[in-house]
Amino acid sequence: MRVLLTGGSGFIGSHIALLLLENGYDVLILDSFINSSSNVIKRIKIYLDSKDIKYKLETINGDIRDKKLLDSIFINSINENKPINIVIHLAGLKSVAESLIKPLNYWDVNVLGSLNLLLTMKEYECYSIVFSSSATIYGLCESLPIREDHKISPVNTYGKTKVAIENMLYDLYKSNKNLWKIISLRYFNPVGAHPSSMIGEDPIGIPNNLFPFLTQVAIGRQRMLQIYGDDWETNDGSGVRDYIHINDLAEGHLASLEYLNSKDSCLEFINLGSGHGYSVFQIIKQFEISTGCKIPFSIQSRRDGDIAKCYADISKAKRLLDWTPKRSLEQICLDGWNWQVNNPNGYS
Ligand code: NAD
Ligand code: UDP
Repeated sequence: MRVLLTGGSGFIGSHIALLLLENGYDVLILDSFINSSSNVIKRIKIYLDSKDIKYKLETINGDIRDKKLLDSIFINSINENKPINIVIHLAGLKSVAESLIKPLNYWDVNVLGSLNLLLTMKEYECYSIVFSSSATIYGLCESLPIREDHKISPVNTYGKTKVAIENMLYDLYKSNKNLWKIISLRYFNPVGAHPSSMIGEDPIGIPNNLFPFLTQVAIGRQRMLQIYGDDWETNDGSGVRDYIHINDLAEGHLASLEYLNSKDSCLEFINLGSGHGYSVFQIIKQFEISTGCKIPFSIQSRRDGDIAKCYADISKAKRLLDWTPKRSLEQICLDGWNWQVNNPNGYS
């Protein structure tokens, strides 16, 4: 089974790549490295070699918007008698804040890039895709936990591009219900790192998200954590989110591939989260207990565009994919911390 993994060098993609390779999949990574390091690929190889695992991994440095490149990837795969059976599509831009400042970049990379990819897949008769969508598409939560049939109402450009791609996938499936096999996974908050500390999250510049910021405070790269509001309508006043261990998320992709393989055709939109909500204060407390680090923090005003609470109903993923998240919040803190300690400057 040969998988084209776009964005395979990024935070999520690298963990999926490693898991697929460990499970005998032949993986072709396409990444422009605009938000990741080529050291990721070296690390994956070192890890697999250290475990004496035989693997088939190829990497192409390129852009999903480059149609000629995509054509050549599919043509070469066919000519070399190792056609791409399935695509896991993660490549794209993911910063909510940046998407508000540079909206056209997000429509270009995320939407036109995905359109390009789907056009090429259709041309070369590859009809199976797992797409990385986001909980951002739900916007303001009207009911918790959030089910897949919750209203879709994104409040930022990034989320709107994810909805546009989901709509594209929907229309494509409806155009020939016997042909396409499609899963759109709506991720909540993927955090932590691989337990080996060989791969993990390495944001460029100052992290926007809670977890990488927290580990950088713990290692001394940032002075203190700013908590964006302690007056939310939550138990302790800080924001509540659904944090899922990155390896649980990766396993959700493996389960999705197995599900697609068992089907003649399908279209499913599926939440991937832990199913639990934790507040910022709870995260800090658990991190301090698990690692022994003290996290200095200050309370700031609410961040624009934030919401009080968001956590997933994951019963659909459990039912359809036979998948359950296995790692605790403690494991998330430990693995995230070990990654940061062993790689204080990330991959550089
Ligand atoms: P990431 O930035 O670490 O990974 C994305 C990868 O795509 C990077 O390696 C980047 O270099 C590559 N890329 C970007 N534009 C490209 C292009 N035009 N052509 C080829 N490669 C390109 O991000 P991530 O956290 O691993 O996220 C992966 C996917 O999951 C994204 O689509 C993101 O929107 C989605 N997602 C992420 C989160 C999250 O919290 N991390 C949550 C929900 C959804
Ligand atoms: N948060 C915070 N300080 C930070 C980053 C985030 O207090 O430096 C809060 C944020 O307000 C939210 C939670 O932590 O309540 C998770 O934020 P993150 O950006 O990680 O995820 P998202 O809000 O995109 O789900």
